[in-house]
Amino acid sequence: MMNEKKPLITSGICQAHCPTRWCCSVQCFVPVPVYPEQIQTIEQFSGKKDFYEKTGSDYTLKTRENQYCIFFDDQKKECSIYPVRPFDCLIYPFDFYAKGNEGWWLVWDCPYSQRLSPDHSEQILTYFETHYAQEFFRIWDYANDSIDPDNPEGFRMLRKMNLTPYFR
Ligand code: SF4
Repeated sequence: MMNEKKPLITSGICQAHCPTRWCCSVQCFVPVPVYPEQIQTIEQFSGKKDFYEKTGSDYTLKTRENQYCIFFDDQKKECSIYPVRPFDCLIYPFDFYAKGNEGWWLVWDCPYSQRLSPDHSEQILTYFETHYAQEFFRIWDYANDSIDPDNPEGFRMLRKMNLTPYFR
């Protein structure tokens, strides 16, 4: 299971410093892409089946009328499937923009990312690049042209992704 890898994002920091949790709503980045193995894992963890839909050639988690992800717990204000959350959620508040075979890192300008030093941020990006290459490629097409790099709306552009050694 992918969560056996330990990204360097401090667990619980969002609960402590962010009152909105917009990252789990359409105001930020849902619908979230999921791929078949993740669907299976989430099914087993949540006991639910009807939580995703086909979006073009991809699958995404459903959202609710209040615009939050189907797995966002409104009472606790947290993810109800956190240990098995999709890859896109796992790397958040980092995200990426892909064009053809090239990708660029972005970060959502949230209370957590504003506290990250450039060194810590770089450490996290390098970790993701060396441990999650396969996962990036699974959602690569979904990220293709998903963000306007000239107007990333709430994101800060970081640097070009270094996935060359792993690229298909
Ligand atoms: S799966 Fe969890 S972390 Fe991801 S958007 Fe839904 S509620 Fe948020």
